[in-house]
Amino acid sequence: MFEMLKLENVTKTFGNHKALKDVSTTFPENKTTVIVGPSGSGKSTLLRSLNFLERPESGHYYFDDLDIDLSKPVSSQTILNIRRHTEMVFQGYNLFPHLSVIKNVMEGPVQVLHQAKSKAHDQAALLLAKVGLAEKADVYPAQLSGGQAQRVAIARSLAMHPEYIFLDEPTSALDPELELEVLKVLLQIAKEKQSMIIVTHNLAFARQVADKIIFVEDGQILFDGSEHDFFATDNKRILDFISAMTF
Ligand code: ADP
Ligand code: MG
Repeated sequence: MFEMLKLENVTKTFGNHKALKDVSTTFPENKTTVIVGPSGSGKSTLLRSLNFLERPESGHYYFDDLDIDLSKPVSSQTILNIRRHTEMVFQGYNLFPHLSVIKNVMEGPVQVLHQAKSKAHDQAALLLAKVGLAEKADVYPAQLSGGQAQRVAIARSLAMHPEYIFLDEPTSALDPELELEVLKVLLQIAKEKQSMIIVTHNLAFARQVADKIIFVEDGQILFDGSEHDFFATDNKRILDFISAMTF
């Protein structure tokens, strides 16, 4: 398994609170890694560190052939370069309200990748079909349900052909029936071997989508392994977490 993205001994402190304590892990390519753990355990900090939205004070960050010493300044060029290869999907969709759905999906490819508009339009139409929203191409974000908006956000991230897509609780703002339509799209994308890293509280979804699970508690990784081994664990702390999260 080729591991393009790796962290080694990463520590991130907010004030006097250690949000990440000496975290080392890998995020395999063409696989889905799911990060789980209690609220406040450091899941978002971990995910955001991968995109340099948080800046850990020590450790190493490896991406492809880049080896970044986090205790030294990191150039904005390096960060831009990493962000070209990664896409973050936020809880709140962040669609451009003044652009139609299809223009939202075209925006990155045209503005950032300098694709011709006709090509970007064709790709966007295909991606909207993939997320089940072909008929919404010309409406504006305000006319979408939360689940539809999140699916547009996913199509928009796919349009950039990222190596990795990062999703932080992508359905936590959604009603259950809308959540399901988003999770189905993510399952489909996972099957197509898009590398993804997903923070979620939904263990049923984690079980279906994950190749790898990372369990974080109090800024530390307590489990790092296959989905199968996670759900077959006899670790008391993980068993307690699983039973607290399921019926
Ligand atoms: P999770 O996503 O698992 O709920 P977070 O990564 O958001 O956890 O937060 C981990 C810890 O770091 C929490 O104690 C949180 O209060 C703290 N934290 C996160 N972001 C900040 C910040 N910008 N400033 C201060 N403390 C923060
Ligand atoms: Mg969080």
